[in-house]
Amino acid sequence: MAVADNLLELLKEIPSSVSLVAVSKFKPAEDIMAAYAAGQRRFGENRPQELAAKAAALPADIEWHFIGHLQTNKIKFVLPYASLIESVDSLHLLQAISAAAVAQGRRVDCLLEVHVAAEESKTGFTPDEALAVAASAADYPGVRLRGIMAMATNTSDEDRIRADFRRAREVQKAAGLPELSMGMSGDWRIACEEGATIIRIGSAIFGAR
Ligand SMILES: *Cc1c(COP(=O)(O)O)cnc(C)c1O
Repeated sequence: MAVADNLLELLKEIPSSVSLVAVSKFKPAEDIMAAYAAGQRRFGENRPQELAAKAAALPADIEWHFIGHLQTNKIKFVLPYASLIESVDSLHLLQAISAAAVAQGRRVDCLLEVHVAAEESKTGFTPDEALAVAASAADYPGVRLRGIMAMATNTSDEDRIRADFRRAREVQKAAGLPELSMGMSGDWRIACEEGATIIRIGSAIFGAR
């Protein structure tokens, strides 16, 4: 089975201190179950309804990470299922997640998505904004801030990618938060060298989307 083989080959290379999120977006339940059967328990989805449907249908011991842009009116699909919302990219969203969690008497683990890439279009907090939010985390009682999520510039220039990851690492350290989610199929090795604690890998496990 290609999925299981891909996963097991990757796991041989990934440092044991780094947590692998298998990004299963757009992939069917049978692919997720192939990875599950090979031992994988942490999966990532980027669409709220897709996360909710898969989480409701698949084994309860799967840990789901939400990694996509989240509109406030879709929080209700994510909150019951996500063990970590990695892609909190605005103050407005952070406030809304906190309020929704408080209304349910709970707290949800979140990462702040920080913009470090060269592209203008990428969403997320600037490093300074992220540090300010981390310093005022008490204002969001429904959220437990666990760290920083970032994406490197989409380029083949390894120096550029490494510089982006270093910037993300600086923000994580300055914020005093434990988790740093960065690195995808094409750049996870560099991310691990630069201090990632979580990597998010899709196509290298499940094939092209
Ligand atoms: C799709 C996605 C990934 C995985 O990308 P691959 O290149 O398929 O490994 C990682 N992070 C985010 C935020 C994504 O949307």
